[in-house]
Amino acid sequence: MAGLHILGFPRIGAKRELKFALERYWRSEIDADELLQVAATLRHRHWQLQQDAGLDFVTVNDFSLYDQVLDHAWMFGMLPERIQQGSAANDLDNYFRMARGQAPSGNPVRPLEMTKWFDTNYHYLVPELSDTRRLSLQPEKLLAEIAEARALGFSPKPVLIGPVTLLWLSRGENRLALLPRLVEQYIALLQQLAAQQVEWIQIDEPILALDLELPWQQALRTAYADLGAVDVRLMLTTYFGDLRDNLDLCLSLPVDGYHFDAVRGGQEYIQAAKRIGKDQQLSVGIVDGRNIWKTDLNSALESLRPLQRALGERLWLATSCSLLHVPVDLDRERQLDTEQRSWFAFANQKLVELRVLALGLEGQGQEALASNAEAVLGRRRSSRIHKPEVVGRLQAITLADHRRATPYPLRAQLQRERLALPLLPTTSIGSFPQTTEIRTARAALRRGEISLDEYEQRMKGEIQHCVKQQEAVGLDLLVHGEAERNDMVEYFGEQLEGYLTTANGWVQSYGSRCVKPPVIFGDVQRPRAMTVNWSQYAQSLTRKPMKGMLTGPVTLLQWAFVRDDQPRADTCRQIALALRDEVCDLERAGIPAIQIDEPAIREGLPLRRCDWHAYLDWATEAFRLSASGVGDDCQIHTHMCYSQFNDIIQAVAAMDADVITIETSRSNMQLLDAFEAFAYPNEIGPGVYDIHSPNIPSVEQMEELIEKAAQRIPVERLWVNPDCGLKTRQWQEVLPALERLVEAARRLRHRL
Ligand code: GLN
Ligand code: ZN
Repeated sequence: MAGLHILGFPRIGAKRELKFALERYWRSEIDADELLQVAATLRHRHWQLQQDAGLDFVTVNDFSLYDQVLDHAWMFGMLPERIQQGSAANDLDNYFRMARGQAPSGNPVRPLEMTKWFDTNYHYLVPELSDTRRLSLQPEKLLAEIAEARALGFSPKPVLIGPVTLLWLSRGENRLALLPRLVEQYIALLQQLAAQQVEWIQIDEPILALDLELPWQQALRTAYADLGAVDVRLMLTTYFGDLRDNLDLCLSLPVDGYHFDAVRGGQEYIQAAKRIGKDQQLSVGIVDGRNIWKTDLNSALESLRPLQRALGERLWLATSCSLLHVPVDLDRERQLDTEQRSWFAFANQKLVELRVLALGLEGQGQEALASNAEAVLGRRRSSRIHKPEVVGRLQAITLADHRRATPYPLRAQLQRERLALPLLPTTSIGSFPQTTEIRTARAALRRGEISLDEYEQRMKGEIQHCVKQQEAVGLDLLVHGEAERNDMVEYFGEQLEGYLTTANGWVQSYGSRCVKPPVIFGDVQRPRAMTVNWSQYAQSLTRKPMKGMLTGPVTLLQWAFVRDDQPRADTCRQIALALRDEVCDLERAGIPAIQIDEPAIREGLPLRRCDWHAYLDWATEAFRLSASGVGDDCQIHTHMCYSQFNDIIQAVAAMDADVITIETSRSNMQLLDAFEAFAYPNEIGPGVYDIHSPNIPSVEQMEELIEKAAQRIPVERLWVNPDCGLKTRQWQEVLPALERLVEAARRLRHRL
C-alpha cells in the first residue's frame, strides 16, 4: 500500500482556538500553562485526525505558536542581540517579543520583520543574521513534540525547513557564509533525531521552485552532501511550483525520498518517478494544499496507477504542500446547500481523500470513488457555475474594450475642466473610521435585529457625517467613506454571482491573524449595481466632486479561493467585466471620478521571473477592461499600497489610470524613484500621512514630503493624500491630520 502523509496541518483550530488563546494570553487574561494546554489539545486533535484517516505518520513540528520560521530561528539561535535587553521572565515571552514586539513580560523591542511566504497569503517572520554570529541548537520544542506524539500513541514524522531555504528566507549580508555552521547544527539535530529512532524526517526546500543563482544551487549540493550522510531518512520536499532548471539538482541530492507538488508542479513527478534510485521514495503531492476544491480522485488514480506499478511501496501520496493554506473543516459550513458542499474539501476532508486514493490503488473504496465521481461531474455540469452569457461576453471582448478612447493628456484636460480642482488637489483613499456604531449596526442587521431599511438609514447617516467632515477640513475630491463595507473583498464577494462566502473558512495570515477569503466557484456576473446608491447619495449631499470606490479585478481574484477549472486570467476578465458595468453605472449616475483599488497586483507575481510578463499582461488588461467603459472626462483612479514599484513600473503605467495613489510616507518618497526614472506619464498621489500609526503628522512634515515628491514628479501631476484608507483610525486622529494635510497643500500651492 502507498505511504500516506501530509506536509503540515493548519494549527489555528477549526474554531480559531489558538487565535483566541494567544490573544487572551497577550492580554494577560490566561497564563502560559493555559495557553500551552490549548496548543497541546490542538496538536492532539490534529494528529488524531491524521491517524483516523489512516496516514502512516502524523506530521510534527508543523505546529507553531506564532510562525514556523521564527521557530527555526529560535531552534538554531538566530536571534538578534536586542532581545537580550529587558529580557522577559521566560522563553515564551521572549519568543512573542521577537514576533510582535511585546509580551506580558519583558521590555518592548523592535520585532522581526514580516513578509510573504512565497506566493501565498501567509506571512512569516524574517530571521536576522547580522548580529548572530554564534549559532546554537535548542531543539527542545521539537523533541518535546515528538515525545508528546509518541506518548499519545502516534508515529511522528517531524518536519524541518531545510538549511538553505532557511538562509534564503533570512536577512543579512552574505548569508551563505553562515551555511557551514548552520549545517553543523542541522547535523547535530538530525543525529539527535536519529538517536530518538525517528523513522523519517521531512525537510522542506521550497526554494527549489524559484530562480536560483549558482551559489544557492551550490549551497544545496554542499548542504545535502553532509546532511545525507547522517543515518536518518530524509524526505526532501519542494512545493508551490515546478522545478524546471532545478530538477536535475534536486534529484541529485543524496536523500531517501523526494516530494513533488503534483498540482502546481506540472508533470515533473512523473519524470522523477523514472529517475529516482531503487531505494528512494517518491511522495506525490496530488491533493491540493492551496485550494479548497474536492480532488478528482478517479482521474488522480489514472495518473497514479502507472507510478504504483513502477514504484510499488516506494510511492507515497501526499498533499501538494502544507494544509496551512486552507480552512480546517467543511462540516462547519452548515449554510452551504448540499450541491455547493459537494464541491469542496477543507483540511479534514483532504485527509480522507488521501485515504480513498490509497484504497483506490488497491482496488478498494469503490463507493467513495463513485460518489467522488458524481460530485466532480456535478460541478463540471452545474448550471450555477456555467453561464453561457458570461462566456459569450468574454469571447466578444475587443481591443477597444480595454483602452480608453483618448490618450491621457487630452483626458486630463477635460477632467480638469469638469472637476475644477486646484493645483495639488487633495483627496483620501476611500475608507473613513469604522466606528463601533457602524460595526454594531452591521452585526444587528446580520442577527435580524434591525431591518435592512433601518440599516440603510444608519449608513446614510454615516455617509452624511463623513461628507460634512470632509467639507469642513477642505478636501477637494470627496468620498462616501465605505461605512457599508465589512471588507473590501468580501463586500463585493457577497454581491457578485459566482462568489460565495464561508462562515468559518478561516486561514492563518500571520500570528493570530486570520483571513476568510471568499470562494469564486462559477462564472462571475453582477446581478445589480453594488455601490451606485451609496455614491449617488453622497454626491447629492455636496457640490464638491465625489469619487466612487471599487475593488479592482486582480485584487478581487487574488484575495479569494479561485476556481481551478479555468485559467486565472479568464476568471479575472469575468470580474473585470462585472466591474466595468459598475463603473459605467457610476458614471451614468453622475459620479465624475472612480477609484479602482488594486493593492494585490504585485503579490500576484509568479514565482519565476520569466512568467511575470504574461501575468502582468493579463492583470493590467483586466484593470483596463474594468476602467475603460467611461468617457474621457470621467477620472479613473487606482490605489496600490505595500508595494515596491521598481520592477513593475511598466505594468503600472500600462494600467493607464488617470491618477494612482500609493503608500510612500514611510519610505520618505523613495518609492517615487521608480516613477521618476520611468518618466511615468499620468498623475500620482504619493501618500504623505502614515495611516498605520496613531501619530498625527505636522503640517511641516507633510509639506516636506510633498516638496520631495515635487522634486521627482512635475507638480501639475501631483496629488496630496494619505497612504491608504482610514478605516482603522479614530475620527479624533483623522480630522486634525487631514486638516493639516489640506493646509500643507495650500501652503505649497503658493510656494511652488
Ligand atoms: N479604498 C480602500 C480603503 O480606503 C483601500 C484599501 C487598501 O488599499 N487596502 O480602505
Ligand atoms: Zn492601501
